[in-house]
Amino acid sequence: MELPNTAIAIREAVVSGKLSAASVVEQTFARMEAASNLGAFLTSCRAHAEETARNLDAQVQSGAALGPLAGVPIAVKDALATSFAPTTSASRILCKGPDADSGFRPPYDATVVEKLRAAGAIIVGKTNMDEFAMGSSNENSAFFPARNPHDPTRIPGGSSGGSAVAVAAKLTPLAIGSDTGGSIRQPAAMCGVVGVKPSYGRVSRYGLFAFASSLDQIGVFAHDVRDAALAMQVIGGFDARDATSREIENPAWSPASASSLSGLRVGVPSEYFGEGIHAGVRASVEQAIEQLRALGATTVPVSLPNTRFAVAAYYVLATAEASSNLSRYDGVRFGLRVEKSGQSLKELYKGTRGRGFGSEVKRRIILGTFVLSSGYYDAYYKQAEKVRGLISADFQRVFDQVDVLATPTSPTVAFPLGARTQDPLAMYLADICTLPASLAGLPALSLPCAPAAPAEGGAPLPVGLQLIGRSFEEARLYDVAHAFLEAQRG
Ligand code: GLN
Repeated sequence: MELPNTAIAIREAVVSGKLSAASVVEQTFARMEAASNLGAFLTSCRAHAEETARNLDAQVQSGAALGPLAGVPIAVKDALATSFAPTTSASRILCKGPDADSGFRPPYDATVVEKLRAAGAIIVGKTNMDEFAMGSSNENSAFFPARNPHDPTRIPGGSSGGSAVAVAAKLTPLAIGSDTGGSIRQPAAMCGVVGVKPSYGRVSRYGLFAFASSLDQIGVFAHDVRDAALAMQVIGGFDARDATSREIENPAWSPASASSLSGLRVGVPSEYFGEGIHAGVRASVEQAIEQLRALGATTVPVSLPNTRFAVAAYYVLATAEASSNLSRYDGVRFGLRVEKSGQSLKELYKGTRGRGFGSEVKRRIILGTFVLSSGYYDAYYKQAEKVRGLISADFQRVFDQVDVLATPTSPTVAFPLGARTQDPLAMYLADICTLPASLAGLPALSLPCAPAAPAEGGAPLPVGLQLIGRSFEEARLYDVAHAFLEAQRG
């Protein structure tokens, strides 16, 4: 039997014995090999996947109860620790040799990986990403860029580019990513798939290689909302090993029986439709909002005036945290060690960090160290913290009047490889629509709406509609996204 398109259908086929897990693995690796030009994976986990499949097939034979993702192939961002495969965060500093296979071998699985395995999912590979999740195009990978399946001369978005590609190119129905300032939503938008960033505290980050701990969240990519919500249910929930994980209910979601959105109030913040938003993207998102109205929702114009400070505040806070989090890569504990005989400890640090980190990571460490340094802390870091408070307050105020917010996910469609690599600021502006929800810790989701031609002309490319919800109200986002996609896909 050929692989069905969704995780839920694959599980059903495996559990009912129509499709063996071994065949799922074989077919998935055939697809991954055929699409290797897209650069989605840094490491493939074939032996692990085959062993998992053998165990699953034995369980099916014996009639044992099977998990909610039994037999479902899944791709995991290389920022999550896996005991059975190297984990590099796409950085040379975690590798002893030239490629990802020589990467650091964590002695444990991240909580999310542990939960996926317990649910019967088959992890088939570790996906490409921007080094330490710093970037918006996947071009900061130390190894090779990932490419957009809709047009391989273009970027897939980032930093979880490889995970978005794996789902968009139908290599796996599900993929795990991490989102600090947009790294799930923006590549989901650019690759035309669903991407979910949960509320801060919903998913344990134990075993996620930290970038900016007050912002980092783990989430999923999928083709439809049912698959996405199921995967979120599996990976979410309290974990004592992550002090920021919240003891809050993580209920299963199923689509409402009526697909009407009547009674739903959708806020449309003017700040997300102005300067910097490409006209084609704006038109497509406006049309999507019109469609929400046709489904029964009421739209309400709202204002989030502090949105314009989000990029500046984020690049102070995230770099400050990164400068501290990345101090652990020192040539002593993991991965690369650049050594000369008779050198001092400081020289070991300098040699290793100088060789091991890419230029964007170095830029951020320097910036983050600067904003935390004495004399500048008050001027930059503390100020950025205040701005973060104002941005949260903006959201709180509008969520008294509306249930969800609808905005573009990315200001443009996917741009050509190389277009922004020489201009970090232009790259940072790719996140203007996703950063505010990250700073406020709110759940947000991107879903595909009508494609739009790039500003420079050419064939239409995917556009994402972003839905932002109240804290821990992911279910409402799923309701709206599901109704929208059902109506669109017929
Ligand atoms: N593109 C943003 C950055 O470079 C966000 C990255 C992310 O969410 N990990 O920091």
